[in-house]
Amino acid sequence: MKYRFETNAIHGGEVDLGTGSVTVPIFQTSTYRLDHPGTDHAYVYSRASNPTRAALEAALSTIEDANWAVAYASGMAATVAVTSLLDPGDHLVLSDDVYGGTYQYVVDELSRYGIEHRFVDTSDIGAVRDGCTERTRMLWVETPSNPLLKISAVEQLAAEAHGRGAMLVVDNTFASPCLQRPLNLGADIVVHSTTKYLGGHSDLLGGAALGRESGTGERLRLRQAISGSVPGPMDCFLTLRGIRTLPVRMERHCANARKVAEFLETHPSVGEVRYPGLANHPGHEVASKQMSDYGGIVSFRVKGGPDAARAFVEATNLFALAVSLGSVESLCEIPALMTHAVVEEGAASTDPALVRLSVGLEHVDDLIDDLGQALDKTGCESPDA
Ligand SMILES: *Cc1c(COP(=O)(O)O)cnc(C)c1O
Repeated sequence: MKYRFETNAIHGGEVDLGTGSVTVPIFQTSTYRLDHPGTDHAYVYSRASNPTRAALEAALSTIEDANWAVAYASGMAATVAVTSLLDPGDHLVLSDDVYGGTYQYVVDELSRYGIEHRFVDTSDIGAVRDGCTERTRMLWVETPSNPLLKISAVEQLAAEAHGRGAMLVVDNTFASPCLQRPLNLGADIVVHSTTKYLGGHSDLLGGAALGRESGTGERLRLRQAISGSVPGPMDCFLTLRGIRTLPVRMERHCANARKVAEFLETHPSVGEVRYPGLANHPGHEVASKQMSDYGGIVSFRVKGGPDAARAFVEATNLFALAVSLGSVESLCEIPALMTHAVVEEGAASTDPALVRLSVGLEHVDDLIDDLGQALDKTGCESPDA
């Protein structure tokens, strides 16, 4: 079923059960009655397959322009599964500004299995070339990145990876398939934390891996069943519901984030503002080519330094001080103290004066008023000074 994005988001996960139900039921079952002994049934045991999960995978595959999708219990479960495609002795190159959990898993765990890695600035193709070795088999890219919103050119990186016999994986969580479809730009695998924009309501955990080449899909599908890193039927149902409103939510997330970024730029207590939609963002041009809009995350440095940043996140009312992102309600955090506390000191993401905002769907004037009153409490010059 191939319609336009908004239509696929609503109809991509439909299943015909003969009941006429317009939603997919929550198949809250672990096992299935079989008509004969054997394993050749569509549904035998819910670790291997479940109809609600199958509907979610169909919906995800449709909206990401993939041939297959494998749903996981969380974004990190998807990350662990995809990196397990590597063999001992293989080399992995990653964006230097990745999700804190990805960083921690690669540094603390993957290295124990004999898989070496190197973090590089993937927005710089020269740095990627320098970071690769003849053993590099996977290039792992987050664009926009977390929390600095760096933009990496997916098409160029795909060509570079393929020239070396490596696969390109893109963590597409920040953009969501609504704004960016990396498989169309040459990526081999897309990874999502569906906990974020796809779910969209801070009420579930989930992840997904998606791609086109069937052999990779089959390997991941088998490991998903064996390792048991599967989402429960209730979380699959909620993710399916979230996907239906993804296009309308993203439109407002992007519009609100742009206005918030423009407001922050004019505020005297704010230093650098990072938002790919701003013309002065170093990745603006590439983002304009590979994304249809610039997303709902804005990061900025508080001029007064770490203490002022802390005063700011404790003074907001609407922006809840919380990790995670991509939901209807606005959130704020200090990556250096929270989501990226595990990242080695010295990386830009560990600047304790950097604040990350997940701009929600509240009225943008209320959001700007809240940011303004909280910035006034940072001890820097007030806007009227
Ligand atoms: C949250 C997040 C993850 C991890 O997902 P979980 O669902 O929390 O396991 C991975 N990548 C990015 C970019 C994220 O924001």
